[in-house]
Amino acid sequence: MYSAIVIGLGPAGSTAAHTLANAGLKVIAFEKETFPRYKSCGGCISTKVEGLFDFDISGVVEKTIKGGQFTYKSARPMDIISERTVGYNVMRDRFDHLLVEEAARAGAEIVEGCKVKAVADRGTHVEVTVDSGETYSASFVIGADGASGFTGREVFGLNPKESAVSITAEVEYDASAIVENVEEKLFIDFGTVPWGYGWVFPKDRYLSVGMAGEIRHMGSTIKRHFEEFVTSHPLLKSFEITERVGWTVPIFYDEKKELFKGRVLLAGDTGHLVDPFLGEGIYYAVLTGRAAARSVAECIGAGHSDLSGYQRWLNTELLPEFVSAEKIANLIYRYPRLWFSILEKDTDIMMRYYDVIRGEESAEVFYNWVFSKVKSKPWKMLKRWVDSRLMPA
Ligand SMILES: Cc1cc2nc3c(=O)[nH]c(=O)nc-3n(C[C@H](O)[C@H](O)[C@H](O)COP(=O)(O)OP(=O)(O)OC[C@H]3O[C@@H](n4cnc5c(N)ncnc54)[C@H](O)[C@@H]3O)c2cc1C
Repeated sequence: MYSAIVIGLGPAGSTAAHTLANAGLKVIAFEKETFPRYKSCGGCISTKVEGLFDFDISGVVEKTIKGGQFTYKSARPMDIISERTVGYNVMRDRFDHLLVEEAARAGAEIVEGCKVKAVADRGTHVEVTVDSGETYSASFVIGADGASGFTGREVFGLNPKESAVSITAEVEYDASAIVENVEEKLFIDFGTVPWGYGWVFPKDRYLSVGMAGEIRHMGSTIKRHFEEFVTSHPLLKSFEITERVGWTVPIFYDEKKELFKGRVLLAGDTGHLVDPFLGEGIYYAVLTGRAAARSVAECIGAGHSDLSGYQRWLNTELLPEFVSAEKIANLIYRYPRLWFSILEKDTDIMMRYYDVIRGEESAEVFYNWVFSKVKSKPWKMLKRWVDSRLMPA
């Protein structure tokens, strides 16, 4: 009998297992893959993550990011670079492996290459059955099995279709052979894909190339948009990109969904805890993995099984940010050409958004500020809109 079972060892599961082990609890964590394993991801982590680890992640950071080069349909490049760091680029195989090793070092029992097939809440405890047929029991279960993870889908009935779809490719490059300086910046393209963006996130050996857009606005056109992107973007045109991976980005979509049920709770992607504007999920996986584990530890310490404290924490600390991020997404993705033209004239908007990424300003304050700018000078907005229509598409 374990205090807790963790399902999945991405950033959410590793952090949950680590936190539980640090609290002196008996925890076992199952992961279907074997580390280091590939995870389709841009691998950019915002600086918000810094205070969350009690170990050093600098060994797996490949690039430090201070801003971005933005394009509209691969043209009109505009560099907006801050003096301060906004994020760190990692390869997910190395980053996730480090987190698993640290969880093991803290005392969590790690089982790799073992897929969880069933979760049954028996009221007094939970039973988890793995693919070998063995069943394990614990007081609590933390589901952290990622996008389309079965805990979120099957146990909680979350809708996997309320997501964004993506395509990614890792492109090996030689920095001396490309014209563009790829240090300290991300490359982000608006307008090629509806309700989303294309990106190139440079690492030491690879350019992580990708594109994501919301399913409900895009349907099944992502392959065509990705092709357009990689054949037109100045940084990518000279590469032949043959290997691609498709994945789901389970963006947040409903603040009323409860992410605890009996003795089971959800953290990270399986609970759709991904920022709906940028698709940032690593920080939120770590944050919610830790919060879920703390709720479990609190219940065990107090001798009860009421996990509702986790939901209260989500409702006050996290979900309002996602609601505001969704409003920002609606504003920008509805009129990407107009917003790109606005940004060209007023780069302070992006500088201020970097503060949101750093966690120094809330998405709500930012949204209200941008919205009031628009409302206070509607004629200026109209002119920009007309100008943007006259620019080449
Ligand atoms: C294309 C793309 C680009 C992205 N770019 C960024 C970015 O640049 N920055 C950012 O912050 N976020 C990004 N994200 C989001 C980020 O990848 C996720 O939010 C993050 O990985 C969530 O972590 P997690 O631990 O919840 O899930 P995961 O990292 O997916 O980990 C879940 C783990 O559970 C395991 N698992 C699944 N089912 C089972 C099972 N039944 N039994 C046992 N194990 C199981 C999986 O093998 C996996 O290792 C991106 C996502 C995509 C798809």
